Amino acid sequence: MFELSKRLTKLPPYLFAEIDAMKAKKIKEGVKVIDFGVGDPDLPTPKHIVEAMKKAVEKEEHHKYPSYEGMLSFRQAVANFYERRKGVKLDAEKEVISLIGSKEGIAHLPLAFVDRNDIVLVPDPGYPVYFASTILADGKPYKMPLKKENGFLPDLNAIPSEIAKKAKIMFLNYPNNPTASVAEKDFIKEAIDFCVDYNIILAHDAAYSELTFDYRARSFLEVDNAFDVVIEFNSLSKTYNMTGWRIGFAVGNAEILNGLLKVKTNIDSGVFQAVQEAAIAAMTGSDEVIEKNNRIYKERRDLLVDGLRDAGFNVEKPKATFYVWCEVNMSSMEFTKKLLNEAGILVTPGIGFGEYGEGFVRFALTRDVEVIKEAVERIRRTFG
Ligand SMILES: *Cc1c(COP(=O)(O)O)cnc(C)c1O
Repeated sequence: MFELSKRLTKLPPYLFAEIDAMKAKKIKEGVKVIDFGVGDPDLPTPKHIVEAMKKAVEKEEHHKYPSYEGMLSFRQAVANFYERRKGVKLDAEKEVISLIGSKEGIAHLPLAFVDRNDIVLVPDPGYPVYFASTILADGKPYKMPLKKENGFLPDLNAIPSEIAKKAKIMFLNYPNNPTASVAEKDFIKEAIDFCVDYNIILAHDAAYSELTFDYRARSFLEVDNAFDVVIEFNSLSKTYNMTGWRIGFAVGNAEILNGLLKVKTNIDSGVFQAVQEAAIAAMTGSDEVIEKNNRIYKERRDLLVDGLRDAGFNVEKPKATFYVWCEVNMSSMEFTKKLLNEAGILVTPGIGFGEYGEGFVRFALTRDVEVIKEAVERIRRTFG
C-alpha cells in the first residue's frame, strides 16, 4: 500500500538477515555459537571517560541544543589529538566538525555534493555506507575493485577518464574494513593527485586509524596537497570502545566541511554536549588506553591467524584493524554456512561487502582469547 521510494529499493538486499536466521536456528539447536561477525568492540569504554560523562550530564548548560559544528573545546581537542597522533595541524574553528558517529557524516556527504547521475567512486569490497549513501543521493556508484594482488588498494589507472571526469567523490578507507589492509604514503599521494587532477572530493574514512599493531597509520592529511581535496572521517568508536556513544568528527578541507554542515543543519542538531565532554576526556587522556586495546587485539590476532594457518588457510597477519580477512576455496556464503554447521562458528561472508569480496570471509577479533582458542580448536577439527 505504501510503496518504498525507488532509491530505497535500489539498495542491495540485506544479506545479514539470512545469516542472523541461521545463527538463531543453531542456537535453538543447542549449539554454542562463536560469533566473529560483529565489528563492535567487546571491551568497555575506559572508566575515566565514563566518569567525565557522569559529571557532564549534571551540568544544565549541556541540556540545551548543542551547536551544529560542535563545541569549540571539542574541536580543539580533535585538533590537538591530530597533532599528537598524526603530526597534522588543524584550525579547530574551520577544519573540524563534530558528527553523530562517522557513519552519519559519511552517509550525508553525497547529499551535499552529488546530483542525479553524478558518479561516486566506491571501494569494493567496502563498508556498505559508501554505496548506500550514493544511491540515497541519486548518484551512481562506480566500483573500484580491491584485489589481493594489489594489496587491496584500488588501481586508479583502471578508472576510465570519462568516469573520473564525472566523479564528484572518491571514498577510501585505510586501515581497511573488511580487508584489514593499509595504505602507505605513495598510494595516498597518488590518490590525492588523482583527485586534484579531476577535481574530486577525496573522502577518507579513518575509523581504524589508531587500531594498529607495531605500525602507525597515516592520516591522509599528512600528505602534500591533501587540504585541497580531502575530508577525513574519524571516530571515537573503535579507538576508545565508544560505538554506543555516537560521536565522531570530520576534518580537512574547510569548503567540503561546510557543504556537509549545510546538509546537517537541515537534518540534525548536533551531538549532546555531555557526550562531547566525554570525548574530550578520551582524546586528552593518556594514549595508554589505545596501546592497551591494541595489545589485546594483537594477542587475539596472533592466536586466530596462527590457528587458521595451521588448519591450512591462506591468511595474512594484518597490521591494523580488528579484522582478519581469510581466503576460502569455495563461495564465501557456502563457506560461512559450512563453518556454522560444522564448527558452530559465525563469520561474515565477503560477498556481503560487495562482489569483489567473494572468495574471502571476515573474522572480527571482538571475542576474548579463551573463546578464540576454542574456535581455533573447532576449526582444526573441521578443516585440519
Ligand atoms: C565502525 C566503522 C565506522 C563508523 O563508526 P561510527 O561508530 O559511526 O563512528 C566507519 N567506517 C568503518 C569502515 C567502520 O568499520
